[in-house]
Amino acid sequence: MDFETILFKKEDGIARVTMNRPHVRNAQNGRMIEEMDEAFRNAEHDPEVKVIILAGAGTSFCSGHDLKLYPVEDGALYRAPNVEGKWEYEREYFFKKMLRTWRMKKPVIAQVQGYCLGAGFVIANMCDLIVASEDSKFGDPVVRMGAAAVEVFCHPWVLPPRIAKEILFTGNYIEAGRALQYGMVNKVVPLEKLETESQAMAEHIAKMPPFAIGMIKQSVNRTLDIMGFYNSINAHFDTHALSHWTDETLHLFEENRKKNKSIKDFIKDRDQKY
Ligand code: ZN
Repeated sequence: MDFETILFKKEDGIARVTMNRPHVRNAQNGRMIEEMDEAFRNAEHDPEVKVIILAGAGTSFCSGHDLKLYPVEDGALYRAPNVEGKWEYEREYFFKKMLRTWRMKKPVIAQVQGYCLGAGFVIANMCDLIVASEDSKFGDPVVRMGAAAVEVFCHPWVLPPRIAKEILFTGNYIEAGRALQYGMVNKVVPLEKLETESQAMAEHIAKMPPFAIGMIKQSVNRTLDIMGFYNSINAHFDTHALSHWTDETLHLFEENRKKNKSIKDFIKDRDQKY
């Protein structure tokens, strides 16, 4: 596949995958999700790659799913005429492909700046480590569209449950300093140092024995699974799917369609309100 929505670079044992739709703050469309999936798969099977960095071009890491689908530019998500189709699409794209990052053997570092919302919040948290710039903002505003959070409900696993509820009930975000305080990110650095700091972390880990690193990742993630991680996010996926078809969601969806609202508008609204 020729990449159109991401950049892929491999150097000195480090693969750098960069979401590259900066004009929409790297909002993910189906194509981008497929390309990230393929890039991760290539990196996983390439013996030269020891560590992967996931980054976003421009001012933001990722503002979520691309909701500017009026008219539909990106297919199946909203075109699916029924619960079955939408469930299937989201299961494949928004759940399974996100979990690939979590499950792969090699360590992945998210390099985050600006907005990291919704699906961006998910993919950053599917990474093993997060290096964030001081201007980073983490949240999941999809409640404003009537849905019960995004598809992969990692929020109470990466934040204290009360803080998870705060961001989910309000649709508001937390800034980098609070994310660091809660242990959701590993490091907060000035924006101009973001790339060199995440690169330095990747280079350090790339020197470690790769099989041992893979086993450590597996053991930490297995521990979380034994604590219920997979069962809980799996159960939430269906809850999320249900929330797409409530009267309140359909009403909001119709209102937004009339106003031709995009994620940018949601961000603008949120900035005005909070
Ligand atoms: Zn959904």
